[in-house]
Amino acid sequence: MSECDGETPLLTPGLYIVATPIGNLGDITQRALDILNGCDLIACEDTRTSGKLLSYYSIKKSLLSYHEHNEKKQAVLLADKVEAGQSVALISDAGTPTLSDPGFRVVRECRKRGLLVSPIPGPSAALAALSASGLPSDRFCYRGFLPAKSAARKRFFESIQNADQSHIVFESNHRILKFLDDFLEVLGPNRVICVARELTKLHETIFTGPAEEVSNNVRGRSQKGEFVVLIAPTDFSL
Ligand code: SAM
Repeated sequence: MSECDGETPLLTPGLYIVATPIGNLGDITQRALDILNGCDLIACEDTRTSGKLLSYYSIKKSLLSYHEHNEKKQAVLLADKVEAGQSVALISDAGTPTLSDPGFRVVRECRKRGLLVSPIPGPSAALAALSASGLPSDRFCYRGFLPAKSAARKRFFESIQNADQSHIVFESNHRILKFLDDFLEVLGPNRVICVARELTKLHETIFTGPAEEVSNNVRGRSQKGEFVVLIAPTDFSL
């Protein structure tokens, strides 16, 4: 925020990368709300999805959509707006934009032009899962989504056979069991993992333990919802 006109704080022109909830709508910072309320324009991945969050907080703003398929074009348009003196808040469907979400090209375009780009930190599924997993968090690798094909996934598992840091992976609900099958086949039943499902939501479940035990737990319950899987370093035991 720069100055105040008496009522609404004025935002310094720039691109604000605003983290939003990953489930529980209460998980939004005061600063995120201030930026969303004070900006000229909100760039959203999906205006309908973000519309729910914005209406929950009674925020009425012009929305512009950017996503995987139009991001190149929208990056130029959004940077033009910032260059013209506007403040733009960039949000994704959930969590921190640019982390396995679009937004990177918009940030790069603004940075290339020397414009202000400022993070408004908050929820991130990867860090939320890591923080509650019980796995070593002093060093970790964020791997995002693995390839959909089993052979490529297995090659990834082979590559972390001797890893000395935790790995964080996103997985979809329709692939989670196949993921666990491949994992057990390559890395065996005793490698410690954590499967975190539906974080911050009603059916949040977090299992940490040897892979076979965790896999049985996941199999024994509903696999609806969203998953983060964390893989411990090779020599880690609970
Ligand atoms: N940028 C987002 C972030 O910072 O959290 C991640 C976006 S990525 C497209 C979405 C993936 O994140 C989901 O498929 C799932 O693997 C993970 N995820 C998002 N919300 C989650 C939640 N509440 N519980 C577990 N995993 C979640």
